[in-house]
Order: sequence, then C-alpha cells, then structure tokens
Amino acid sequence: MPVRQWDPASKAKVVLEGLQGKPETAICKRHRIKPAEYRRWRKQFLARIARSFVSPRRPSTQRSAVLPGLARAGDESSKALRVAQELIEVLPIPVYFKARDGKHLGANKAWEAYFGVVRESFIGKTVQELFSNAPEAAARHQAADEELWRNPGARSYELQVPVRDGSIRHTLNYKATFTGADGEVTGLIGTIIDITERKRAEQRQAIEHRVTRLLSECETVAAAMPGVLAAFCESLGWACGTRWSMDAKAGGFRCEEAWSIDDPEIAAFLAASRESTYQPGQAGLVRRVLGTGQPVWIVDIAAEESFLRGKQAAKAGLRSAFALPIRLGEQVLGALEFFHRDERLPDEWLLNTGVAIGSQVGHFMARKQAEGELRRSEARFRSLTALSSDWYWEQDEQFRLTFMSSRFAERTGIDPAPYLGRRRWDRPALNLTESDWERHRAQLERHEPFFDFEMERASPDADSVWLSVSGEPVFDEDRRFRGYRGVGTDITERKRAQGVLRAAYDELARSNAELQQFAYVASHDLQEPLRMIGSYTQLLERRYGDKLDRDAHEFMDFIVDGATRMKQLIEDLLAYSRVGTRGKEPQPVHAQTVLDKVRVNLRAAVEQSGATITHDRLPDVNADDTQLAQLLQNLIANAIKFRKKDEAPRIHVGAEDAGDEWRFAVADNGIGIEPQYFDRIFMVFQRLHTQDEYPGTGIGLAICRKVVERHRGRIWVESAYGKGSTFRFTLPKIQKGET
Ligand code: ADP
Repeated sequence: MPVRQWDPASKAKVVLEGLQGKPETAICKRHRIKPAEYRRWRKQFLARIARSFVSPRRPSTQRSAVLPGLARAGDESSKALRVAQELIEVLPIPVYFKARDGKHLGANKAWEAYFGVVRESFIGKTVQELFSNAPEAAARHQAADEELWRNPGARSYELQVPVRDGSIRHTLNYKATFTGADGEVTGLIGTIIDITERKRAEQRQAIEHRVTRLLSECETVAAAMPGVLAAFCESLGWACGTRWSMDAKAGGFRCEEAWSIDDPEIAAFLAASRESTYQPGQAGLVRRVLGTGQPVWIVDIAAEESFLRGKQAAKAGLRSAFALPIRLGEQVLGALEFFHRDERLPDEWLLNTGVAIGSQVGHFMARKQAEGELRRSEARFRSLTALSSDWYWEQDEQFRLTFMSSRFAERTGIDPAPYLGRRRWDRPALNLTESDWERHRAQLERHEPFFDFEMERASPDADSVWLSVSGEPVFDEDRRFRGYRGVGTDITERKRAQGVLRAAYDELARSNAELQQFAYVASHDLQEPLRMIGSYTQLLERRYGDKLDRDAHEFMDFIVDGATRMKQLIEDLLAYSRVGTRGKEPQPVHAQTVLDKVRVNLRAAVEQSGATITHDRLPDVNADDTQLAQLLQNLIANAIKFRKKDEAPRIHVGAEDAGDEWRFAVADNGIGIEPQYFDRIFMVFQRLHTQDEYPGTGIGLAICRKVVERHRGRIWVESAYGKGSTFRFTLPKIQKGET
C-alpha cells in the first residue's frame, strides 16, 4: 500500500475533525494513522495557532478580524496557518479562541450565527457576558476552563445552554489548550457541537419506553398516570403534570391524577386543582384544549388573566405551562397539562413529545374501555346462561359440536359427551327422517340462521326428550365462515301438553259432530211420532167429538197445543243444527241486497207494527248469504216483537269499519234487556218472557250466535232496560284475493 504523503493542509483537516468532536480512534482508523501521530499533528497545529496569537500583532486585515494574527502572510508556516484559518472560518460548527485570562480572542462565522453575537464586538469579553441570562451555564464553562489551565490538554463535556431565541440547546463542548513559543499554555480553542436533536431523540425514546412499560404493567389509567406524568416531567425538567378527563355525569371535566416534584406549594396547588369540575370554554388552559382539541402554551402564567388557576399556580412558583389533548383518532378523551418553574417558550418538539404520550395514553384508555365492555358483556352472557333454562352451544365449520353449556345435561339428563365432536345428524332423532336431515344440512351449508329446529332424542331416564335448537352462523373479521352458535331448549313438556291438547281437541270435534248428527236425527225423527199424535188427536176429535165431555175437549186442546209447540221446538232445533251441517262456503255477498230480501220477508210484521227500518250503507262481506239473511231477519224480527206497547218500533241497521272486520248493529227502541241476561239470551231455548207476553221458542239468538261464530265473528248485546237494545256482531273483512 503506497504511503500517503501528508501536507500541512491535509493534516490540519484531520486535526479539525477531532476539534469537531469526532473520537480519536475513529479518526485514526479512517485515515490509517497512529494515535501518537494524530496527537503530534494536533499539538503542532495548536502550537502554530498559539504562536500566531503571541506574535506582535498588526491591525487585522480585511479578511480576518475574527481570528486576529492568523492571516499574516509571508511567514515560513503561513501556508499551513492560512489553510487552518480558512477551514476554521467555514466550519459549520462554532469555533472560538480564548486567552488564559478567559477573554475571547476570536470566533468563526458559525459561532456568530449560533449565539447571535457580532464577533468583533465580543473580542475581549468573557463567558459570563456571553451567558449573562444563564449564570449557571457560564459557571460550568468557567470551571471547565480552569480545569484545563490546571491540567492542560483536551477535554469535552455536555451542557444545556439557552441560545439567543430563548430555546434551550444541548451542546457537546470540546476544548483544547495551546502553548506559546515558550511552551507555556497561552489559551484554548473550543468547539461547540449542537447535539440537541440526538439528545431529544434519546430523551423521547426513553420517555416513550418508560410510558409503554408503565401502561403495560398497570391495570387502570389511574394507576398508570402518576408514573407517566413523572416520566415526562423528570426527563425534561418540568415541575408537575396532571391528567384531565371529561366527566359526562358532572357535565364538565376534572383533574384525575397529578404528579409533582417534592414541593408543598405545588402539592397545594394541585390539590386545589382537583377539587372542582370545570366547564369547557374559550379561556383558560385545559378548558381551551378540551374546547378546541388543540394544544395550548402559556409562556407567562401571571400574565394570562383568563387562566382561572393562574394565580394559585404563580403562587406555587410556576411560570410556564402547556396542555394538550389526549386523543383517540378524532375523539378527545381528556387532556394532559404540565408546568415549569422558569419561563419556557413554546417548543414544538416538547409539544410533539407530549402529543405522542397523549396518544399512547388515549390508546390505553380506549383499550381499557374495550376490555371493560368485554368484561361486562361476558358477565351479562354468564348471568344470562346461568339464569336461563336454555343452553348454549357452538359448532365448528364442519358443523361438529364443539361446546355445550352445562345446562344441557341439567335440563335433559342427557350426557353431552357422545354428541361432542359430532354433527347433529350423526345421531338419530326419533321424529326426523333422512330427508328432514337433508333439508337441515342444506340450510347449514347455505350458512343461514335457523329457528326452532325440533328433535326428539332418546333419553336414559324418560321415553324421549324433545329439544328445540336455534342457531346463527358465525363469521370472522374477514367474513370467513367459522361455524354456528346458538341456544337449545327442552320442549318435552310443551310437546306432551300439545299431544294432550290435540287428543282433547280431536275428542271434542268428534263428540261435537256426533251431537250435531244426533240433534239432526233426533229432531228429524221426532217429527214423525209428533205428527202421529197430532193426526190421531184430530181423528179422535172428528169421530168421537160428540161423545166426549167438556173436560175431554179441553184436554185434547192441550194435547194439540202441546204437539204444535213441540213441532215448533223441533223445527227450531232442526234449523239450529242445520247452521252447522247445511251451511254453504262463505263467499263475497252484498249485505245491502241481503237486507233488502229480509225486509221483503218481514213486510207483514213491519206493516202490522208500523215499524220504520233505516240503515247505513252496508258493505260487501264474505258470508253464506242464506245464513246472513237468517241472522238479520232474527234480529229485526226480535226488534219488532219486543217493542213497547205504546211506541212504534224504530229500527236502524248500521255497519262500521273496525279495522280487520265490519261491525254491524241492529238497534231498536223496544223494551230493552236487563244486564244480567246479556249472555243467557244467546243460549238455546233461553227466553225471558212467557208465551202469552211474547210468543217464541228462545232459539232465534242461539242461531244468530252460531251463524256469527261460523263466520269467525262475535255477537253481543248492549241495552238500557226499558229504552231499547242494540245487537252488535262482527264479520271479517274480505281479504285481498277473495273477491
Ligand atoms: P225468542 O224471541 O223466541 O224468545 P230469542 O232467542 O230470539 O228467542 O230471544 C231470546 C230472548 O231475548 C227473548 O225471549 C227476549 O226476552 C230477549 N230479546 C231478544 N231480542 C230482544 C229485543 N230486541 N229486545 C228485547 N229483548 C229481546
């Protein structure tokens, strides 16, 4: 490998790398030189600079008022010096020179820009003047200088310093002494490397790391927050911090947690903050943050009048503050607030760090909320399954039973084990055929929900158990089918009861039909012997009438009268039984036409009684027209029959729309009915008067009721005794498609 020739300018460059803070080992490695050699070059370089300061000075040239003496031309080492000077001047990092007495000899352009000080004006001034607003930083620099005077050489240290825009910068300061021709230390050269960005990145990472750990270790927001606030404050030198949350119930927001350095005044201020609830608004600190969702910075609390707690904060020695929202996406869940004892200008980095923590906290809160919801819904589910007599089950994608809650065994007495891992149709159900199962299976394969699927399963301690299951398909987030879940219920008792009910119903229907038949046959067959009684009585009368005495004649009249009434009764009974046996299928009929026919039938009675019959517009109904006529005729005939002695009957036939049905009414101004008879009069042969008062058999209203009920309607009476009665009945409306 060819040995590189090092000219003075190149050596100066290498030395300046070191002055910029690059570690010695790295420089040596990169340029392939030995550390001893590097140190020798540095010594030579600094000695040359030192010499230039101690040599008799001339007024500085145009080019360098800053590095006086460095620009003299003509020296034997002038070339190297000029290179060094030019390099220093254009270095992007601040470089300065100081004499042993601590006074500045010069600085480069970058230094000028960094401190915002015109360098010519600063020559001869001390570090105390440079950091007049930060005496602590000045003292630290001075101490480092003194250390160097005692132990010449090089040293570096980190320091936070305020710069001209008021912001705080992290600096890495590198200083090295140089000696004069006599070998005495004459001054030092210093460089300042701004490591703020790196420091901040480290700090932010450390804070976020600490916060992440806290949030993962804590169960609740309340438990985590003091540590989170401390992580921020301690790392960045802020005095205290708080978390605020919206309290929907109190209709405002509250300070939930706080952390502060150990200071009773600050602790008192925080305690006061936690006492009340605040309303969101346009002023204040947290109020503004929650009102606008934006961070707010207050440089000087004392000057901010709208800040409600400002006075107390100032009293506690707090000067600056800022607050920012805790967000989850667009939603503002609360706010974080921090206070500093010194004046602090708005710092975007600090705000961003706070916002990042706010979002970490926001996610944590949301997670905790979701976990809470989940816990509550699980508890609900648990108590639901514990309290319900139903059981819960799950099936996988292959429809195999994967879970069955314990209620199943408790309710049915069946061990679920043989069913687990199997499909519903793998085990027999007594009520289902192959094709029933096929249909069910096809439904599951279509991933459809199903309801009340009934199965009769063999059971160890009963004949069988009836189960009803309902289920819904389960899909994951990607809409992939994951199986079924559902509930099941034991319907054995219901099924048994249904069986009993059906048997009773069948029995009832059978005996009803038998009765109908019996009534029909009986009334029909009774007519014949009755006719015989009638005709033989008449024969007796004709043949032996003149041989019989008065009493015998009277007795025979009784027989004829009884037979006539019996005939009437039998005919009525026959008519009654025919309502059920001879009825026609209902079909749409015009009620008005039916009424007109009835009026014709009743013409004689109407004329005789002087009755007037009025009516509403009557609708079309679905009915057996003969029976509807019978119904209306019975009611109107009764209205005429049960009229008052001194008043002509006034009868009105009405019809009104009552939703699904028509409600008819036949109203009269007759004698009325006492309420206790409202039900009785609809029974067969029940009547309230003697034959002499009002003739009749008491079957009319029974027929009316049977007709109405056959048409799926109801009939009832409303009446004021002595004033009149209204008989009402309903008929279902004609459904669409029936016309
Ligand atoms: P009948 O008319 O043959 O007596 P119904 O079954 O038609 O038999 O009537 C039963 C009873 O109801 C009647 O006896 C009468 O007392 C009473 N009733 C029926 N319609 C009216 C009415 N419009 N006004 C007063 N009472 C009535």
